[in-house]
Amino acid sequence: MARLLFTSRNFGSLADPSPHQNLAQLTKLIGKPIQIMNQVHGNQVVVVNEPTQVPEADGLVTANKDLALAVRVADCLPLLMYSENVVAAVHVGRKGLVNKVSRYAFDQMKALGAGQIRAVVGPHICASCYEVGPELYAQISKSNPATAVKVNYLDLYAGLVEQLPEVGLSNLHLCTKELPDYFSHRASGELGRQVGVISL
Ligand SMILES: [Zn+2]
Repeated sequence: MARLLFTSRNFGSLADPSPHQNLAQLTKLIGKPIQIMNQVHGNQVVVVNEPTQVPEADGLVTANKDLALAVRVADCLPLLMYSENVVAAVHVGRKGLVNKVSRYAFDQMKALGAGQIRAVVGPHICASCYEVGPELYAQISKSNPATAVKVNYLDLYAGLVEQLPEVGLSNLHLCTKELPDYFSHRASGELGRQVGVISL
């Protein structure tokens, strides 16, 4: 059975990918090493079997029950996927939705023998708050039609549901821009990051 955790502002920022006090505290709380990644809005998904140097990636997958995976976010979607024997942590922003990073993570989980896959999306910017310019709106609503719920606003979660039809997805419905409990780049331009953590 997978274990999932999402931090809030209260825990402190985990923006820094190098070792630091907040990460050490989180590791202690989880009780196992936490693998993080240097997120670049790409579609690289890395399978990790043991704690390793921070890879440049936007998805981590493991079948090792002694390792936890983390995704760091402010307004992007922290996607935590799990099956009986494999878990994944994925960073899905607008670019990640377009480049299908979630599909790559899904495929890597399947390659490791995952059966039924479920997933939870933690705090992220909601559709009512995510306004974009008309050009961007036209572009994304064409490549990912489900994101288009209102003119010049994008529903990234709906886009993810559309992209992962085989996955049972749950949304915590916590908007980072609206709720002061969460770091939000859009709300205040701040650089702080909360995390989603998953392990078997
Ligand atoms: Zn909102």
